Amino acid sequence: MKIAFFNTKSYDRQSFKAANQKHQHEIVFFESHLSDETISLAAGFPAACVFINDYLDAKILENLAQGGTKLLALRSAGFNHVDLAAAARVGLTIVRVPAYSPYAVAEHAIALVLCLNRKVHRAYNRVREGNFSIEGLLGFDLHSATVGVIGTGKIGAIFAQIMKGFGSKLLGYDSYQNLTCLNLGMEYVSMAEILSQSDIISLHCPLTPETYHLIDAEAIAQMKSGLMLINTSRGGLIDTQSTIDGLKSGKIGYLGIDVYEQEADLFFEDLSNQVIHDDTFQLLLTLPNVIVTGHQAFFTSQALSNIADTTLANVTEFERSGSCKNEVKMETAIAPK
Ligand code: NAD
Repeated sequence: MKIAFFNTKSYDRQSFKAANQKHQHEIVFFESHLSDETISLAAGFPAACVFINDYLDAKILENLAQGGTKLLALRSAGFNHVDLAAAARVGLTIVRVPAYSPYAVAEHAIALVLCLNRKVHRAYNRVREGNFSIEGLLGFDLHSATVGVIGTGKIGAIFAQIMKGFGSKLLGYDSYQNLTCLNLGMEYVSMAEILSQSDIISLHCPLTPETYHLIDAEAIAQMKSGLMLINTSRGGLIDTQSTIDGLKSGKIGYLGIDVYEQEADLFFEDLSNQVIHDDTFQLLLTLPNVIVTGHQAFFTSQALSNIADTTLANVTEFERSGSCKNEVKMETAIAPK
């Protein structure tokens, strides 16, 4: 099938060219995002492939369908950037990669925990400057720390497994109780309990209307003082301004984020020669107990190869049968399991 491939980086071209040896689709790579300005590039392509920072609103989806596109292949697990109702209305099938490496994301969340706790980011700079003072670098044992996992699906369960290895006590919050987590000794509790009892909270639930700003001023007020908050899921789960207020008051002792609500204007691009106009983001970067990474949690070689293989297999399945097991429908959004 002919695929218009948007928002391409060198690593996408590499992994998709390698995977396409098996699938033999006709891929045309475009560097630009899929947007109102670039939509004409997709005309005549039965399939288009996009990433999480391409926003698929009703207008774009209508234009895609009018240009003859039948299939929109997301090379991501998350689909909060697609207007699913509009896609259904214009007859576009949306497919995604439900799992490519939950280990990649869980392991990155752990990297943030370890770096924040033992202040590796600060120690690295100090030692390079010949400053061997350890003042201000005090950490805490993860052994016996209480770790709250919000969203105990594929990634949350692996995160819990690794934390179990440190000897942490596990709390979970999810409407579905995951057997793997129960077998690790995780105790499922209410939102109020997970907030008030955890030393560390890691977010692993999807962004939905229900989870939007799950961590807001009210939630922060209920947190144990000095809590470490980790978000490798989606930026919209956290109300950034309330989180900054929590960091200033000391209620939040550490913040590690791989995702940011306004990340679409920043992440995945080299902006090192430009002035960044997002003052909220810039303020976050000034705080010593905050680590921000630019949506790289998924970025391992295994994950890239799985993303490419599943995306192209989705296209093949749709081409052969007109449907796909990894189709995203309105029901998927309501019940992510
Ligand atoms: P999953 O579907 O396996 O698990 C999500 C879990 O969240 C499910 O158990 C679900 O029941 C639970 N959930 C849904 N609503 C909830 C709520 N209101 N409160 C608590 N729990 C709720 O998904 P996954 O593969 O573990 O991925 C989790 C999220 O990670 C994705 O939605 C995506 O946003 C994010 N992600 C981030 C990256 C990255 O690079 N940073 C990469 C992949 C995925």
